Amino acid sequence: MLTDTHVHSHYSLDSEASMEKIVETAIEEGIGVLCFTDHIDYDFPIEDMVFDFDLGEYLAEIAALREHYGEKVRILAGVELGMQPHLGPRYNELLRKYPLDYAIGSQHLVNRQDPYFPETFAKRNVEEVYRQYFEETLENVRAFDGFDSLGHLDYVTRYGESIKPFPSHSLFPELIDEILKLLIEKGKALEVNTCGYRKGLGQPNPGPRVLRRYRELGGELVTIGADAHKAKDLGKGCKRGVECLRDLGFKRYFYYVGHEPVAVEIETALRGTIS
Ligand SMILES: [Zn+2]
Ligand SMILES: [Zn+2]
Repeated sequence: MLTDTHVHSHYSLDSEASMEKIVETAIEEGIGVLCFTDHIDYDFPIEDMVFDFDLGEYLAEIAALREHYGEKVRILAGVELGMQPHLGPRYNELLRKYPLDYAIGSQHLVNRQDPYFPETFAKRNVEEVYRQYFEETLENVRAFDGFDSLGHLDYVTRYGESIKPFPSHSLFPELIDEILKLLIEKGKALEVNTCGYRKGLGQPNPGPRVLRRYRELGGELVTIGADAHKAKDLGKGCKRGVECLRDLGFKRYFYYVGHEPVAVEIETALRGTIS
């Protein structure tokens, strides 16, 4: 049984996928646990881009899908929260108000720009942008306790690599160590975001070096998600991500129900999977 706990539907500004189609794809692909994690990015710095939606409506649709398909796939309700230092109180209020299973905390910005847009790298060297990205991530992980798993720790490399690739060992190991230690201290998980495979990076975000280091430092809580924005990408690379964890010595990975981690044995997960 595989799980995919990072999926976007049309509730996200950048997706048009229907929830029902995603659930049907999960069943076809043999994915046993699916967690919707639509984007909420309050105070996004680009005008006209509003990453927010009605969580009441969202939870009602998920409940209806659970009613209909719940025997074939476990359907969970989460969010992906775009972290900024001043947003903690607003996100905590939202998390108190709505009974979600899971919250991914993600760093989507560096210097108040999304590295998805090439302007982020204009007139700056890539290393400098990367350093600032990890510094801002550290600041946000320090400031905010409401998330369960840190999403795509090196998201900035998804876009920076196409501008100037450089070896993963040069990705500011001291800064990343600080982030990993803080996650462990706070009991937070680290996400293996398999979108990196889809984008041709040849590894998930973060890659094996960071995952190995997290384990060396005592980290055990890892989650897996394909970060699909289309139903056809659901679960893509999740099996590869699980194999990567197994090769690094992890025995289990996790999904969250009511913000509590549930373990999946890696050997069991890899048995009989088709995607
Ligand atoms: Zn994200
Ligand atoms: Zn995402």
